[in-house]
Amino acid sequence: MRQNMFTPDLAGKRILVTGGAGFVGSHLCRRLLQLGAEVICLDNFFTGSKANVLDLLDNPKFDLVRHDVHQPMFYEVEQIYHLACPASPIHYQLHPVETITTSVVGSINALDLAMRKKARVLLTSTSEVYGDPEVHPQPETYRGHVNPNGPRACYDEGKRCAETLFCDYHRQYGVDVRIARIFNTYGPNLNQADGRVVSNFIVQALRGEALTIYGDGSQTRSFCYVTDLVDGLIRLMEMERFAGPINLGNPVEFTVKQLAEEVLKLTGSKLELVHRPLPTDDPTQRRPVIRKAKEQLDWEPEISLALGLQATIGWFRAQMAAELGGDEGRVTPLRRLS
Ligand code: NAD
Ligand code: UDP
Repeated sequence: MRQNMFTPDLAGKRILVTGGAGFVGSHLCRRLLQLGAEVICLDNFFTGSKANVLDLLDNPKFDLVRHDVHQPMFYEVEQIYHLACPASPIHYQLHPVETITTSVVGSINALDLAMRKKARVLLTSTSEVYGDPEVHPQPETYRGHVNPNGPRACYDEGKRCAETLFCDYHRQYGVDVRIARIFNTYGPNLNQADGRVVSNFIVQALRGEALTIYGDGSQTRSFCYVTDLVDGLIRLMEMERFAGPINLGNPVEFTVKQLAEEVLKLTGSKLELVHRPLPTDDPTQRRPVIRKAKEQLDWEPEISLALGLQATIGWFRAQMAAELGGDEGRVTPLRRLS
């Protein structure tokens, strides 16, 4: 779908993707294999699933490993994409302690591996480091407005600490690091029961249920299609040197209500919008400044919300049809959270 695709030759490169069986990770593994790399996909399947990478299992250049990043990692690799971390608010808020320790201890283990192997390591940080931003849109220089003890802090502060660790391993030990600050991303392989807004709205619309708007729906987000994001992550990894964190996201901003209306339009549904309480500390606005990514990576998103939603809706439709037909092979079951 993207025209300006980055196509480095990764033949012979051994690359570890932690959290590789998750939503973003599964797309990243697929793209790295297309570019010729040998990929080790590591995951504890907390929010991800083997089903997301089922089609890769027969590829001789692909290995899937069940491993928790709380434990040290020992692999012969030249690059590490460190994604492992629950990313949806319902998951990280049900398991806050595991979330912050995954971010902090997992990052230490990824960095230690990078240091031992002299590998380059990329952290998937998040726009959540900006909290509920008082500066809009958000450039990388903005230091954020995070509640350090609210229900989102396990994720936000976990990622902030991970960024600190990446910068300190770079300064103190010379580890070759990269930091991506990812804004809301969506696409196929999102977990149906993940609770994030795009998957919730699409699943609700396809099931003929009312769409749940938290608060009045005036809060904004900027939605990036996953193939755009993956292209940006690979450009960042291949960039010559570390130049601080870089925002990766789509700078086109929508209210949550506008997103709901777009999903209704594209699914041809005439369903109700019902309002639910706004979660604590839910950011009121979010939009990336992507000047740095444009200048340093020659990257910007290409896929419009309408186009990306059409592809995502098509994928969810096929998943749900397969489920109804009894073929659960590609449906990503969510592990019980209690
Ligand atoms: P996801 O939940 O689909 O993927 C995360 C993966 O990490 C899952 O496969 C999960 O099983 C695995 N994981 C979790 N804890 C682990 C552990 N302790 N050990 C090993 N594996 C573990 O989420 P995603 O949207 O694909 O997010 C991937 C990364 O990108 C995360 O680091 C997230 O913080 C970051 N990110 C994503 C978005 C987004 O909108 N998708 C936005 C900002 C940042
Ligand atoms: N949201 C919503 N209805 C839902 C799920 C989420 O209105 O069914 C809202 C949520 O309150 C937030 C926005 O959509 O304002 C994005 O939520 P998501 O969980 O996808 O991501 P994040 O809050 O981490 O940006």
